Amino acid sequence: MNSSSEINKELERWKDKYFEQGESFDEQRKFAEDYAALLQRILIRVSLAAENVSSELDKELASLRTAIRTATPENNDLEKRLKRIDKMILQSDESKQQNVEKIVAVMGLLIEQLQSLKIPRKQKSALRKLSKSISKSMSGFQDYPGILSEYATIQAEVLKDIVSPENKDTSFLSRLMGGSSTGETSKSVEPESPDTLVEQQDLELETPEEKSDSTELAPGFSSIARHIKGTLNNLLDQLTFPESANRDVAKLRDQVEGELVWYELGPTLDDVASLIISVIGKGQREFESFLMLLDERLIKVQNYIEESRKSDQQWYGQNVEFDQVVRNHINDMSLQVTNTNDIEDLKKSITGHLDNISTAVDHHTSDTEQHENNKEAEVIALQARIESMEQEALFIRQRLKEERGKALSDSLTKLPNREAYDERLELELERWKRYKQPATLVVADIDFFKKINDDYGHLSGDKVLQIMAKEVQNRIRKTDFVARYGGEEFVIILPETNLDIATQVIEKTREMICRLPFHFRDENIQITMSFGMAAFDDDLDSGSLFERADKALYEAKKNGRNRIERWQ
Ligand code: GH3
Ligand code: MG
Ligand code: MG
Repeated sequence: MNSSSEINKELERWKDKYFEQGESFDEQRKFAEDYAALLQRILIRVSLAAENVSSELDKELASLRTAIRTATPENNDLEKRLKRIDKMILQSDESKQQNVEKIVAVMGLLIEQLQSLKIPRKQKSALRKLSKSISKSMSGFQDYPGILSEYATIQAEVLKDIVSPENKDTSFLSRLMGGSSTGETSKSVEPESPDTLVEQQDLELETPEEKSDSTELAPGFSSIARHIKGTLNNLLDQLTFPESANRDVAKLRDQVEGELVWYELGPTLDDVASLIISVIGKGQREFESFLMLLDERLIKVQNYIEESRKSDQQWYGQNVEFDQVVRNHINDMSLQVTNTNDIEDLKKSITGHLDNISTAVDHHTSDTEQHENNKEAEVIALQARIESMEQEALFIRQRLKEERGKALSDSLTKLPNREAYDERLELELERWKRYKQPATLVVADIDFFKKINDDYGHLSGDKVLQIMAKEVQNRIRKTDFVARYGGEEFVIILPETNLDIATQVIEKTREMICRLPFHFRDENIQITMSFGMAAFDDDLDSGSLFERADKALYEAKKNGRNRIERWQ
């Protein structure tokens, strides 16, 4: 009994123990499941956070996330994935390090660039500090924002200092070169005489006293910028752009017209260059494709003509054949008439022949109609082709004319240029040789023009050139021809004008020019021109004629300027 109750007790104890174990196993399993789910979520988040290191790794992580979500004991390739990810992380560590090195190098360059400028001491020392801290602390991506924002702050201070209003007249370039202020100020000078044909124009000239000792220094950027603006605008004016480039050209013009600052100059020039390159390329391609099209059309026209010739030949053959058929029938009829006594037979035979002739005539009439229709259609098609070719040729001729017009005119003064003068002089010499009407060549040169540039700046010199060009052009007759020969030199051709008349015409021009009152503050500036003349003469080529007029100009300069001399 004792023993059986003990056994029962023992059984109870094992039972309790079994239940206890079962409960604890359930708890452990639940914990393990929850834990695995939590790890899964953490792994997914961490994999998301690790994105954007490399696109390869991103792909691997995305597929890892799917694999984690759908993993089963049979379908578990995490080991393999882990190996692949290990390899990628190793590679990305290396490239990260390289990137950091590159960024450190670029930052160093940026700092060096600022350091090479003439900048206040405060910013110089800030740059030094920044440079040191870069090489020390820049170990990972987390340092970039701080370092870049520090650099941006210093750069902003430097730039503010460069473009601040109080420094406006201390040009950036001159400070770069270590010079003092160029003191550029703009005042207006106007030709004031009412009888002058020159429109009232503002000339922005620098005063001599404001120029100080800046002659050896580079001009301030703002004055160069104005000149560059003018040059770029002239360049854009000279080119013919296709419609497709209109937007780019307008943008570029805005860029050039706007406040051109020194650091935008490089990119603006790049834009101009690429536009020009693209336009030249496009123009050439357009012309090439036009020529190819023309070639194709010409081949087609040639084919038409060839076919038309063949069909004419065929038509000629058909005519001969028809002629032969009718002749044969008539010959037969005449034989029959000679040889037959039986009037009935004769009637029958002649009726037969007449029927045949009538059928042949019908065929011939319908063939003729067909042939004429074909011919007409061919002529219409040919006309259409020729018309469209003419239209295209007209378009190309206009384009060439425009281009030629631009190639022959001077962009600053809008006068014909030296090439145009060369052409015109050859023409006038030919005319002279044929009709022997007197004609005169004049070479004109502004006196002491270099001094105008030196005293008032190159831009003012340009304006003076424009005014002079206009003045000379307004003074001469419609049949005369004036061109800018180069620099501050002009050439005038006076056809059908002998030396005496030419002297009178040019004398009036000279007087008008020297009386143009260029006015600056209280100072009157007189600008004069000297002239040399030579008459067209037997056996003179263009070169020797110019030489004569130029020698006379030299004499005019030697004899005191603001005067006319004639070659003799
Ligand atoms: P001279 O009376 O003997 O002719 O003296 P000059 O000073 O007029 O002659 P020189 O040949 O010594 O100088 C001509 C100057 O013209 C020098 C050059 O810088 C300037 N020049 C030439 N082309 C242009 C131009 O397009 N614009 C400006 N502003 N100046 C020009
Ligand atoms: Mg001169
Ligand atoms: Mg000269």
